[in-house]
Amino acid sequence: MSLDTRCVIAPLRVSFINMPNRPQDHGKKTMAKRIVDVVIPVALDHAYSYRVPDEMELAPGDLVRVPLGTRECTGVVWADNATPNPRLDNRLRDVAGKLDAPALRPELRKFVDWVSAYTLSPRGMVARMALRMGEHLGPERLRTGIRLTGPPPERMTAARSRVMNLLADGLARSKREAAREACVSISVIDGLIDEGTLEVLELPAESVASAPDPVYAVPDFTAAQAEAGATLRGRVGDGFSVTLLDGVTGSGKTEVYFEAVAEAMARGRQSVILMPEIALTGQFLDRFAARFGVRPAEWHSELSPRLRSRTWHAVAGGEVSVVAGARSALFLPYADLGLIVVDEEHDSAYKQEDGVHYHARDMAVVRGHIAKIPVVLASATPSVETEVNARRGRYRRLHLPERFGGVHLPTVEAIDLTRQGPPRGRFVAPRLAEAMKVTLEREEQALLFLNRRGYAPLTLCRSCGFRFSCPNCDAWLVDHRFRRQLVCHHCGFFTPRLPSCPKCQASDSFVACGPGVERLEEEAAALFPNARIMVLSSDLVATAERMREELKEIAEGEVDIIIGTQLVAKGHHFPNLNLVGIVDADLGLNNGDPRAAERTFQLLHQVAGRAGRETGRGRGYLQTHQPDHPVMRAIVAGDREAFYTTEIAARERTRYPPFGRLASLVISGPDRPSAEGFARRVASAAPPEEVVRVLGPAEAPITVIRGRHRFRLLAKAEKNFDLSGYLRGWLRRAPKVEAGVRLEVDIDPVSFL
Ligand SMILES: [Zn+2]
Ligand SMILES: [Zn+2]
Repeated sequence: MSLDTRCVIAPLRVSFINMPNRPQDHGKKTMAKRIVDVVIPVALDHAYSYRVPDEMELAPGDLVRVPLGTRECTGVVWADNATPNPRLDNRLRDVAGKLDAPALRPELRKFVDWVSAYTLSPRGMVARMALRMGEHLGPERLRTGIRLTGPPPERMTAARSRVMNLLADGLARSKREAAREACVSISVIDGLIDEGTLEVLELPAESVASAPDPVYAVPDFTAAQAEAGATLRGRVGDGFSVTLLDGVTGSGKTEVYFEAVAEAMARGRQSVILMPEIALTGQFLDRFAARFGVRPAEWHSELSPRLRSRTWHAVAGGEVSVVAGARSALFLPYADLGLIVVDEEHDSAYKQEDGVHYHARDMAVVRGHIAKIPVVLASATPSVETEVNARRGRYRRLHLPERFGGVHLPTVEAIDLTRQGPPRGRFVAPRLAEAMKVTLEREEQALLFLNRRGYAPLTLCRSCGFRFSCPNCDAWLVDHRFRRQLVCHHCGFFTPRLPSCPKCQASDSFVACGPGVERLEEEAAALFPNARIMVLSSDLVATAERMREELKEIAEGEVDIIIGTQLVAKGHHFPNLNLVGIVDADLGLNNGDPRAAERTFQLLHQVAGRAGRETGRGRGYLQTHQPDHPVMRAIVAGDREAFYTTEIAARERTRYPPFGRLASLVISGPDRPSAEGFARRVASAAPPEEVVRVLGPAEAPITVIRGRHRFRLLAKAEKNFDLSGYLRGWLRRAPKVEAGVRLEVDIDPVSFL
C-alpha cells in the first residue's frame, strides 16, 4: 500500500491559545512535557506523537494543527501518551494550534477505531471520513438583499409598482427572490436601486437547516401504523436496539419511522436518516417538511464545499436536529446522536467499494451499539442477513401489513420469452405491448424497466465479426447514441462512433446487439408514436437537481411512457403509473454472484411495486427466459416469504453469509504475470486454520479494469470466526507489496466482479 502523506484536510479556523500571565512554577521547569498521540487523516494506521506546549489545554478528541514533514495539517488528539519513547522525546515537535471546533466525542473515536480494525483500513483513512469539514474556503461570500426604504421613483411603471407592493411589508429579500415573486426582471430591481427607492443590505448567512417541529403535522395513522409508531417512539431513549421496520411499498414506513425521529427531536437529540444516495429526492425532503415544517439538513456528494463545511460544523455544534444523508453521514461528528434510521437497508449502495471498504448498514448497527441508541432498518425486501437476524429474534421486527390508504399490490404475470417473445431485433413482447396500449388509452402511465444504460451493450461488424471492446478493460464498449459515443462502463473510456469498421473497412456494417434504454425508447416510439416518452438513466441526468425535476414531471403526469434503469426503482411515488414491464428480468441472475438471486428479487419486487399505488389496478409483466426460477415464481405469486425461505436454506447449505463469513483480497498489477505471481505468493502465505478456506487466486470476472489485471482470493470462514484478526495475521506474513501492485481487502464483500 502506498503511503499517502499529503495533508488532505486543512482547517477552517485556527486559534492559537495564549494564556498570558500564568504564574510560572519554577520547580516544574525540568519536568517532561506532556505528549499526545494525534491521528492524522492520511493512509496510516498509527498516530503521531507531539509535545503539548505549556500554555495549551488539550484533551482527547480535540482537533489540532500539527507539523507533518514540511507542512502542517489537521489531526485529532487520540490519547495521552504516558510512556513516550525517551530517545524520541527531544525530536518530537510541538502541536501548532488548537482548532476552534467541537472535539470529536469518545463515541465517534471508538467507532473510528472499530471500523478501522474491522475493515483493515488505516485508522487515518477512517478518521478522514469524520473530518470532512472542508478545506481553506476563504471568507464566506456575502449574501445581499434589498429593502424598500427610499421615496418612490419619479417614473412609475406597472413592473416597478409590483416590486414596491411586494416589498411594502418591510422584509428584506434577495434580488432574485424579489424579481421572481414580483414577476419582473432583475434590471427593474437594479433601476429602483439606482433611483434610491430600494436599499441594498447584507443578509445573514443562510442556516443549514431550521429547527424542525416534532408536532408540526401529526399524521392520520391506521391502527397498525399508530401501533408501530408508538413502539418505535418507545425505543428512543431506551438504549441500543435494532428494529427491522418491514412493510411493502406504500405501507407508510417513512411516516412511521418519522415518529421515532419526532421522539428524538422532542428529547433534544439528533437523528440521522441514511438513504441510498439516489433516493435522497425532493419527494423525500418534501415529505419530511410536510411532517416537521422544514427540510432536514442534507449530506451527500453533491453538496458544495461551503455547504459541506457549514453542515459539518452545525452537526458538531448540535445546531442541526436531523441529517438525511448518504452512507458517509454515519461518520459525522454528531453532538448528541439519539437515533439512526437506515432506509432501504437492503440497497447495495450502502457498501463503499473504494478507499475504506465498509457497509454502512452494518456499521450503523455498530455505531448504534457504541452510542447505546436505537437503530431502525427499513425495507420492503430486507437483506437476507437482516431477515435472518429478525427471524432469529436478534433484531426486533415491526411489520406494517396494509398499504397506505388500503391499496393493493399489483398483479404480476411472467411472459415466457422462449415461447411468447418479441420478433427478432425487438424487445417488447406482444403481450406487454398490448397491455401498454390499453394503459395509454386510459391515459395512465406505463414504465419499461431495463437495467442497462445506453443503446446496445455490444456493437459488432457484420462483415468480419469485429467487436468494439475497451482498450483498458475486459469489457465491450456500450453504444450511447444520445452522446454519439461508444463508452466503457468500467473506466469511462469513450470513442466517437466510426463510419466504417476499423478492421475490414466495411461501411454500414455495424450491428447493435441487445437492448439498452435508448434502444427501448426507439422501439416504444415506433409502437406508440403519439406517446410522450422520457428516458431516466444516470448518464442522462446531469445533476441531482435535474433528476428531481424529471421525477416531478413524471409524478405530475407530463409523461406517458417512462423508460428507466434502476434509478426509477428507488422510493419515488408516481400516482398515475399503473403498468410496469420488466424487459429483461433475467439480467443480474447467472453471473456467479452469490447474492444475484437476492438482488434480482429485491430489484424486481421494488420495480413491480411501482404500479398502481393509488388506483389499485396496477399490473406488472416480467419478461424472462426462466419463468420457473424461484425468484420469478416468488414475484409472480407475490410470495416474499417463499423466496426468503428458499434463499436462506440455500445460504445455510453452502455456508454463505450470514451462515459463514467472506473476505476478498483483490490483487491488481500493470500486467498479468506480476499480478498473478504476487497473488500466488500472498495465497501461499495464508496461515493454516481449520475453519478458514482460502480460494484462488482466480482471475476476477472482469479481469482487466483501467489497464490493471486483477486476481481475487476469497477467504471463507465459519460464522463466529474473527476473520479480520485472521487477515491481519495473514497480511503480516505475506510478502511486501511490490512496485505497481496493489492489494485491497474487502471484508463482507458485496460485489464479486
Ligand atoms: Zn469489419
Ligand atoms: Zn474500460
